[in-house]
Amino acid sequence: MKRVAVLGSTGSIGKNALLVVENLGKEFTPIALSCFRNVELLSQQALQFRPKVVVLVNQEHLPFLKEKLKGTGINILTGKEGLCEIAEMKEVDLLLNGIMGSAGFPPTLAAIRKGKRVALANKETLVSYGQIIMEETIKNKAEIIPVDSEHSAIFQCLNGREKANVKKIMLTSSGGPFRNRKDLSNVTIKETLNHPVWRMGKKISVDSATMMNKALEIIEAHFLFGIPQEKISVVIHPECIIHSAVEFVDGTIIAQLSNPDMTLPIQYALTYPERRPSITKTLDLTEISTLTFESVVPTRFPAVSLAYLALKKGGTTTAVLNASNEFLVDAFLEQKISLDKITKIISEVIDKHSPIKEPSIEEIQEAEKWAKKEAEKYVLKK
Ligand code: MG
Repeated sequence: MKRVAVLGSTGSIGKNALLVVENLGKEFTPIALSCFRNVELLSQQALQFRPKVVVLVNQEHLPFLKEKLKGTGINILTGKEGLCEIAEMKEVDLLLNGIMGSAGFPPTLAAIRKGKRVALANKETLVSYGQIIMEETIKNKAEIIPVDSEHSAIFQCLNGREKANVKKIMLTSSGGPFRNRKDLSNVTIKETLNHPVWRMGKKISVDSATMMNKALEIIEAHFLFGIPQEKISVVIHPECIIHSAVEFVDGTIIAQLSNPDMTLPIQYALTYPERRPSITKTLDLTEISTLTFESVVPTRFPAVSLAYLALKKGGTTTAVLNASNEFLVDAFLEQKISLDKITKIISEVIDKHSPIKEPSIEEIQEAEKWAKKEAEKYVLKK
């Protein structure tokens, strides 16, 4: 039996992870759960799964949680430190990181330094700290198995094959809710959060609408698979059946197909290299009949070009892209800027940035702070 810590258990990835763990039966048990502030759902999950420990990051509703878990013997930890504490716990065999944003970095690093497997849904960690994370993974004989559906697909297509044999990675993208809309200056928050295929948290839904999600995924793929940016491309594929593909030097393309359902990549990250029956509805190829593909027009989706630019500038630039995006997504959700401003401001911030090569953790954190401040200047200027 493997003991899993689910970080962000009340979010969209976390809820799916608990469905997966439940379906896998005795093979996995959730030993720790965490959430930012949704104490109601966290207490329900804790009473159902009986983990050894739960972490509440924002302590505002701590009394409520204490009351709900009274007499259960479930330990309650608090704050961001609590996340690292469970990542390091010797009873935790595997960390599933479903936390949103750069807050996901410290627990990922903590688990890796203990040589554990991290099932990683938190792409921001790799975008900002990719080089450090991958070096520490090798050094500590730890494992990072991607949960992001595209990267899970690529991971499965590569299946340990020599990188030298890879001609191109093809990341697929639904195109988001505004694939056919030219002007993003007047879209509402409601329209933005209404993704055509995936039901997800707010941050990633806004990222999908601006295509920053794909930008982050290009950078994520670069670090995760050690593939240069020239070999990473994006293809618009609105049906979301092919989750990504790899073209090899002989011209063979291997792709991974399934119905769009996050429980599948989550399960694979847990059971890898094994496979188990899953709760995902089987794909019937005769039912789909048509799959369509379009190329990405850079002027329509400037976010994609920003990813390549950030990788080219290198060093701290990808962290700057990520941090300014995090700040600007909040600004959009607080109705301080229109959606089209997000990529415009990120472009200005990247332009101003003087990158530090081979940065330390502290230097990356400094760059993140700087990027948020710079982005804020543009928000206030508006
Ligand atoms: Mg994805």
